[in-house]
Amino acid sequence: MPWRVPPGSASLSAPIASGSGVSVTSGAPIPSGSGNAEPPIDALSELASGRVAEGREGLSTTELGYTPHELPTLKGSGHPTFKNPEQRVYEVWVSEIMLQQTTVATVTPYYTKWLIRFPTIKLLAEASLDDVLAHWQGLGYYRRARMLHEGARWVIQNGIPQTAKEWLAVPGVGRYTAGAIASIAQNEPAPLVDGNVERVVSRLTANQASAKSLTDAAWKWAESQLLPGHPAQASPGDWNQALMELGATVCKPVNLLCRACPVQPWCQAFAESRVADYPAPKPRAEKKSLHHSVVILTHDGKFAIRPVPEGRWWAGLYEFPREASLEGLNLMTEATLSQFGQFNHVVTNHEITVDLYHAEAATPTQDLIWVTEEELTQYALPAPSQKALTLWKKSRAQKTLWEQETSPD
Ligand code: SF4
Repeated sequence: MPWRVPPGSASLSAPIASGSGVSVTSGAPIPSGSGNAEPPIDALSELASGRVAEGREGLSTTELGYTPHELPTLKGSGHPTFKNPEQRVYEVWVSEIMLQQTTVATVTPYYTKWLIRFPTIKLLAEASLDDVLAHWQGLGYYRRARMLHEGARWVIQNGIPQTAKEWLAVPGVGRYTAGAIASIAQNEPAPLVDGNVERVVSRLTANQASAKSLTDAAWKWAESQLLPGHPAQASPGDWNQALMELGATVCKPVNLLCRACPVQPWCQAFAESRVADYPAPKPRAEKKSLHHSVVILTHDGKFAIRPVPEGRWWAGLYEFPREASLEGLNLMTEATLSQFGQFNHVVTNHEITVDLYHAEAATPTQDLIWVTEEELTQYALPAPSQKALTLWKKSRAQKTLWEQETSPD
């Protein structure tokens, strides 16, 4: 990935193959293995280089003042990107928070723009929350942005944590993120476990557990790999990235590439020919259905929005008035509502049916914020409000077209 440097001090090596970073050699000899020993760090390090190289290929960072291919040369050159460890910490921190629940392909352009607007922890801490949320718009899970902002303010006040344990005191930093920053940016032999690592551990050790039991077992395994004396201790960041990369590109949930897997000789599930049995399926979370009503309330070409209060989904953002019932919306708008659309939106295990209404207010009420369409772009709107706006514009365009076609002139 663009924000991660190559393993150790080795120069950037080419990906094992283009695309996934790993190739499957048809007919390649399959090493025999007992499935009991630990995978060697060299085998995993190779994967980490592939991960770094692959990410750089897809990144356009010209606005940052360097191209992806210049990164290895810039390392050690005094360029701000690698100039000081604090900057490295910040960049890894931002990337790891952005990558939670979001893919690398989606994150990369946001990450680049973020570093241009908020290049240092200090500048992020000094920015307004509205500015921060506006730059997060489109990435979703806005709590991450609010916590990152709060975390930056915490760091400016208390100093940069030096260990994974200290990182846990920073708002928005959990066990995984603490391990990632400490190992990748600060070279501490701190373990980390994400969904990819969990799956790899389950198969490598043929662990039948699922859900929380598997997570606990994976953390124990990850800790054991970084104890004093283990070769991974010398390069904990590379080790951790390699494990994640193994899960993301080789030991995938489906279509896994066992024949090309660098740790296959140490894999117990492979040795037992039972890779499909791991990890054990998680118990299904029950889906809950909800109904929301949203109104595009207009007055004299302006739109009414309001801040989402604390304790509700999308707190800290702005939205078109939304209520759990049509009655609630009627009471709030005191105007005639006409329905123009409906869509479904999923939040965690909730499926929300959103009914869309329009109303023209007689007067702009003081309890709402009235903005033009252009001003609306300065506010961070959650996905349902963005979708409501898109459908509203579409509905207006269709109405105009219909009026033109049926006009007697
Ligand atoms: S890809 Fe196959 S061999 Fe490699 S760790 Fe996963 S299950 Fe084991």
